[in-house]
Amino acid sequence: MQNAKCKSRKQYNSKTKQQSIFPKTSGLNRLPYLCRMLIKSAKYIISSPDFEKCPAPDKKEYAFIGRSNVGKSSLINMITNYDKLAKTSGQPGKTQMINHFEIVSASAINQSKEAQNARWYLVDLPGYGFAKVSIRSRRRWEQMIEGYLRKRPNLEMVFVLIDARHTPQKLDLDFLNQLDKWEIPFAMIFTKADKETQTVVAKNVRLFLDRLRKTWQFLPQHFVSSATKKLGRDKILTLIDEKNEAPKGE
Ligand code: GDP
Repeated sequence: MQNAKCKSRKQYNSKTKQQSIFPKTSGLNRLPYLCRMLIKSAKYIISSPDFEKCPAPDKKEYAFIGRSNVGKSSLINMITNYDKLAKTSGQPGKTQMINHFEIVSASAINQSKEAQNARWYLVDLPGYGFAKVSIRSRRRWEQMIEGYLRKRPNLEMVFVLIDARHTPQKLDLDFLNQLDKWEIPFAMIFTKADKETQTVVAKNVRLFLDRLRKTWQFLPQHFVSSATKKLGRDKILTLIDEKNEAPKGE
């Protein structure tokens, strides 16, 4: 079972093409604005301390993770169009749980009745890189994240958030390398793009991709986002829509 899953992840990675600084849009991404996936509802389901306590894996699942304060809650709220779905952090590091939200959406790709009420999980994972956490809680975080990422059978993709204002950070690169080692499919989202000029964002993205290119043959897909400007929403939702409509693991 696990092997079959790993194989499909490998296939996914080998199919991923190299990306330019700003990702080339697929045919679907070029569809008119109104043709994007529509979020019909989003509701909080449960917070779990480990993967075994997560809800039954009966829907496709997309997880979001990144350094603390990277803008994860803001991005989740922006994507779902719900202002307070994920709490925008006041006290970083407090919520060390796996948080499940059930989303009901209407596909822009598939017009069948079923696809107009597609149900999937959006998962808000606790971030990494807190300066003030004990070794014990860091270890607990590592175990929880590794267990979840490697054993959750319905996990389709992990979105790794990276602050677009900074040059490549070791913590982010290490996390991505770990995902690659575990053969977990992922995409990168460069956040808070509105806080810098387009030139600076493009430069930071390019530097990041250059660092990955040193050791990787294929680069994962990436997006540039801004929660305040609603930038990146359509492309991220289109990718989820495509994955929802594809056979499992493709
Ligand atoms: P989290 O800790 O990763 O969940 O990050 P939050 O979503 O709580 O965001 C951390 C801080 O960055 C908050 O003050 C947000 O208002 C701000 N922030 C998040 N995303 C954006 C963005 O796209 N643009 C701007 N200007 N600020 C953002």
